[in-house]
Parts: sequence; C-alpha cells; structure tokens
Amino acid sequence: MKILKFGGTSVGSPERMKALRTLIVNDEPKIVVLSAMSGTTNSLVEIASFFALKEYEKAAAAIKNLEEKYAFVVKELYETAEYNAKATAVLKERFDEIKTAASLATVEANVRERIILAQGELISTMLQNFYLNETGVKSVLLPALNFMRKDLNDEPDMFFISEILKREIAQYPDCRLFITQGYICRNYAGEIDNLKRGGSDYSASIIGAATGAEEVQIWTDIDGFHNNDPRVVEKTHSISHLSFDEAAELAYFGAKILHPACVIPVQEAGIPLRIKNTMDPNAFGTLISDETKSEDIKAVAAKDNITAIKIKSGRMLLAYGFLRKIFEVFEKYKTSIDMITTSEVAVSLTVDDITHLDAITGEIKKFGTVEIDKNMSIISIVGNKISESKGATAKIFGALNDIPVRMISFGGSRYNISLLVEECHKKSAMEALNQKLF
Ligand code: ASP
Ligand code: MG
Repeated sequence: MKILKFGGTSVGSPERMKALRTLIVNDEPKIVVLSAMSGTTNSLVEIASFFALKEYEKAAAAIKNLEEKYAFVVKELYETAEYNAKATAVLKERFDEIKTAASLATVEANVRERIILAQGELISTMLQNFYLNETGVKSVLLPALNFMRKDLNDEPDMFFISEILKREIAQYPDCRLFITQGYICRNYAGEIDNLKRGGSDYSASIIGAATGAEEVQIWTDIDGFHNNDPRVVEKTHSISHLSFDEAAELAYFGAKILHPACVIPVQEAGIPLRIKNTMDPNAFGTLISDETKSEDIKAVAAKDNITAIKIKSGRMLLAYGFLRKIFEVFEKYKTSIDMITTSEVAVSLTVDDITHLDAITGEIKKFGTVEIDKNMSIISIVGNKISESKGATAKIFGALNDIPVRMISFGGSRYNISLLVEECHKKSAMEALNQKLF
C-alpha cells in the first residue's frame, strides 16, 4: 500500500481534479489523502472570524461566494445528472453545517471554528470521489473523522488510528483506491479538530505509519526540496535524496514544502517519504529515507518574522539555575525557542510566536536587562553531520563576509548550522551562500 497526498492546488479546479484521476488510477493499492481546494481553508477561516465578531452579514456574503464557487465546480466536473445531484446534495449538507455552526450559541468560538474549517476537506474528497465513481473507478471514501484522533497531549493516537483504519480498510477487500481527508481529525473528547494549517502532509505521514505503508508520497507543485529558496534566490535545483533529519530541519526552518511534523511518523516507522511534482509527474522529486548518508551541505532555507530576545545580567556570572528560570517563563507561555546562544553574562534566543511576548518580557525583566529585536530571519544551512565536516564553517563564513550576522547556532544539531540576520540582509546572505556552497 502507498499513501499519496495531494495539496490544494492539485484539486484546485475541475480541470485539476480530472487530471488527478490519471495520476491515481492504476493497479497499485493506495490511500489518497486530499487537502481542501486551494483558497477554501482561508475562506473558511475568514467566515469563522466573521461569526466570532458577530458580523453576520459579512459571514453570509462570504458563504454565498463560496457556495457559488462550488456550484460552478459541480457543473464543470460531472457529466451526468445523477452525480450532479449527488454532489449538490452533499454540498448542501456541508454548507448547512457551516451555517448552523453560527447558531451554536452554546459552543465556544474555537469549537465552532474547527467545525467550519473541517468542511473544506470534507467537500474536496467528496467531489473527487464522486468524479472517480462517475468515470467508472471503484474508489471508496474513508471518513478521516472516524479514525484520525489526537490524544490528551494533542499527539496522534497511533494505536487507535491504526486499529480503526485497518478495520475500515478490511471492509473493502476488493478496493484498491481509498480517498480520505487530510488535516481534519477529532480530539480526545471526540470533538472535530485539525492538525493545524498545512496539516494534510502530517495526516498522510500518520496514515502511512498506521498502516505500515510501503511509501508515503507528498504531491505538490514543485519538484521536491530545493537547495535554496526559489522564491528568494535564482538558479536553485531540486535535491534528489535527503535523510529524515535533514528534511525535518529544512521543513522546520523555512522550506515551505512540507509540514514540519510530517517527517516524524514516517521516520519512526522507517517508511520512505517522497516529494513529487503534480505538474511534472515524471520528475524524480526528493526521496527522504534512512539510506541517505552523504555528508555534503545539502540546502539553505530561511524563516522570517523572527524575534530575538537578549537577556543580560551581572548576576549570571558564575551563577547556576539562571537558564532554568528563563526557560520556565517560556514554558509557562507555551512559546517555543528556536535558537539560543549564551555567554557568561547574557543569553540570546529567538522565537517566532510572539503572542505572549509582552507577558514574557515582563517576567524575564526580573532577571536582567532585556533587548528585543524584531524582523529577523533565521538562515539554516543543512546537511548530514555538517557540524563535524571539515571546511564547512570556513565556506559558510567566507560567503558571509559582508553580512552582519547577529547570532550563530552551531553544534546543537549535527544537521544544521543556523544564523540570525536582519530580514533586510536575508536575500543577499542567501545569494552569497548559494554561490559559495553549491
Ligand atoms: N487545508 C488545510 C490548509 O489549507 C490543510 C492543508 O492544506 O494541508 O491549511
Ligand atoms: Mg501544504
């Protein structure tokens, strides 16, 4: 069994849905995981926030817009009156659910939002599955809300998922093509929930691990991981092989291609993960596996909107317990730290989630003087054992001769050297690295 995940653009129009058929209909048994049609989740987020602000007219207008868009998709996608009617009926159910969510006065805004956000994947999978059925393919829709569940710690409940999924699949011994929703799940209390934005990749990886799949494929609109960010730098090329650790670092530090959590389930289960390009299905893409041991520098990625926090205190001199006190503040506000460097009397660290920045700053001021710098970028240079390889640092710092680097994180991970620069220097830093490293 293979798991193939297709993102929003791959199902973004009736034409793309028809083209998808040719990619997934063959003899190989598979589970196809789909995102919502591109743009839909953003529209649903908007609708939910109109409801939360009690702007009912705006919500109604946005819903009407989306309903019209889907009516058009149905009209273009199906040939027969039968499937047109079937899809229209399910669409009505889904939109009724969006509308009634608003009147669920007793539920909290976040519960309502999660019900609304789930509709995008419920709709796209229904449309694609009906299209396959109409054109003679015997595919089966597996409802993710039946098997995809998170535990009390918000982690996938792998035992439950695996048991239920295998049971559902076993009900269709002759079926070779299953379709299911990415992104959506239930929480431990059984309420509708999701795996956070971009979470369909994560769904595919969880499903792969839960079924012991032979391979998980993430189909997107680029031919795999590139050695540098093609939105920032010219002349990048795709990387054919990466290790799980390299891919995880790249996904976390800015390569938008993969949800950062996606690597974990397949890595734990030892299942290869392949990135493929929907627009160019014959391109090799990127194969992520345990096999990749090459120790070259593989890629550069950047993450923007980073905030640096520097805490300086004379009391830190020869003191112990200081770092713990600082970390406890971040823990209290559930804010994760990306980079950290220390000297005897100062600690610099970076965060990307600044929801609780004021509260955090207020508390850490008790320990010393605090400086905050916004609009920073983390540039990560990734490769197996990069921190042990001879010459890597000389090449990297040689390339950055003219760039003011604010922080360096080296040796924390064997796969990554990270630098902090002001956002305005990001492009030139990435270009310089591209020239010197590849
Ligand atoms: N539809 C969701 C989103 O837009 C999940 C995904 O596409 O992966 O974030
Ligand atoms: Mg995505």
